[in-house]
Amino acid sequence: MKEQTTISNSNEARDYSGHYCIVGAGPAGLSMARSLKSKGIPFHVIERYKDVGGIWDIENPGSPMYKSAHFISSKYLSNYADYPMPEEYPDYPSNRQILAYHRTFAREYDLYRHIKFNSSVQSIQQKGSKWLVTLENGESGLYEGVICASGITWSPNIPKLQGIETFRGEVIHSVKYKDISSFRGKRVLVVGAGNSGCDIACDAGVAAEQAFISVRRGYYFIPKHIFGMPADVFGDGAHWIPNWFSQWVFGIILKFLVGDLTKIGLQAPDHKIFETHPIINDQLLHNLRHGDVIAKGDVSRLNGEFVEFKDGSKERIDLVVLATGYHWAIPYMEEKYFEWKNGRPELYLTLFNRNYENLYALGYMETDGGAYKMFDEMANLISSYIDAKRNGDPSAKKFGSLIWNDRPLLNGGIHYLNTGRHSVYVNQVAYKKYRSKIQRKMGWPELKSGQFDILKTDDNSNAASTELARAVR
Ligand SMILES: Cc1cc2nc3c(=O)[nH]c(=O)nc-3n(C[C@H](O)[C@H](O)[C@H](O)COP(=O)(O)OP(=O)(O)OC[C@H]3O[C@@H](n4cnc5c(N)ncnc54)[C@H](O)[C@@H]3O)c2cc1C
Repeated sequence: MKEQTTISNSNEARDYSGHYCIVGAGPAGLSMARSLKSKGIPFHVIERYKDVGGIWDIENPGSPMYKSAHFISSKYLSNYADYPMPEEYPDYPSNRQILAYHRTFAREYDLYRHIKFNSSVQSIQQKGSKWLVTLENGESGLYEGVICASGITWSPNIPKLQGIETFRGEVIHSVKYKDISSFRGKRVLVVGAGNSGCDIACDAGVAAEQAFISVRRGYYFIPKHIFGMPADVFGDGAHWIPNWFSQWVFGIILKFLVGDLTKIGLQAPDHKIFETHPIINDQLLHNLRHGDVIAKGDVSRLNGEFVEFKDGSKERIDLVVLATGYHWAIPYMEEKYFEWKNGRPELYLTLFNRNYENLYALGYMETDGGAYKMFDEMANLISSYIDAKRNGDPSAKKFGSLIWNDRPLLNGGIHYLNTGRHSVYVNQVAYKKYRSKIQRKMGWPELKSGQFDILKTDDNSNAASTELARAVR
């Protein structure tokens, strides 16, 4: 029977007892949907945009994607479980290829028919033991549980800039940046050296009259390839060695490969490698070494046609691009539903709400590698718990008490810098180890190769390969 994805036709909420509502059909929502589907747990996905893929569709209004964006983790370690990226893809696929990959994934596992598109979730409230999901058009449904998978990069963080009222140039957040044509003939300053900031500064290095990047502190820059191997593949080969040792070894390797960054105007890092989210970029270093981009320190103020820096220098600037990150938000839920700490929701294993039952979140963390396999493992944990509850399995009660009481450190012994960004930052190896241990204790199986094949149909697979073949070119 075709799955019903109209959640209500009248003003009265439809009763979806036993059903789960996933908010968002980005990578996290798709991973969650495949997991629930494979366990026979009924669900709907509600997506405000017209198709799947989340931020990877540059046309999705508010997406932070830009035309030159490529994957930061390599294709070898960034795929959904059991769904490798095509051989023809380069080591670091483009945003268009990643989008096609998500779409074929959804098609091949027959997820589209569970998704209600062009439907924005406006509010979610607890009603007794159920959750009332209301859409922007007034439709509503009463669900057993909710999984928030609506992403963390939709609400730009715009810092206060001194003197902005005097500034004669333009100031935009990086979320508005789409392609290099907006840089032509301008003196451009990119503020912030996260992965997006570095990419955008490189674009400015190509197209702008002169490009600058303002970097507040020293960071490590990891080349995309180390000894000819994608950096994450190189690192993965050594994941069994203790983190303190790999910090030491990587520190030395980087000194040889990258050299002294202070010679190109960057500050020396004030922390050990891996204590901040890695910047995987060698193109910026190339541009800095060729003068196409000039490194500056922290901005002190804007003044007329100039930007002044804390070291006393100033530059004439036409366009400031704030690559200053995002506020994490779950805007359709009142603040009381989540414990927000440093702007991040406090959740057991970044997934399980400690205070409200049947309220889950997927994708509200950052980590030191490709996210999708991790999403799959996390989704498997959520759906195993839901499954145990539905079947009255005693493990559900045991796990419920862990949700309340267990507060593991998932940093693998790495002292991440005490910034908002790193407060729910998880070390992939430490997380996996801990999650596996808990799962074994509960008697819940790990993902197995081939376990999702049953969801595939020949028709869907054929349509998916045609779509992917188009994207490979
Ligand atoms: C430039 C860039 C490069 C990146 N590179 C990598 C990489 O190399 N490897 C990696 O693993 N990760 C990378 N990431 C991280 C990236 O965030 C993830 O790949 C992924 O897109 C996160 O998936 P998500 O489903 O959690 O969120 P999103 O992709 O944000 O999807 C959320 C979905 O929810 C929908 N939605 C939001 N609000 C509502 C609502 N109220 N109602 C209904 N629907 C709603 C949105 O339309 C969207 O479709 C990169 C990010 C950026 C910006």
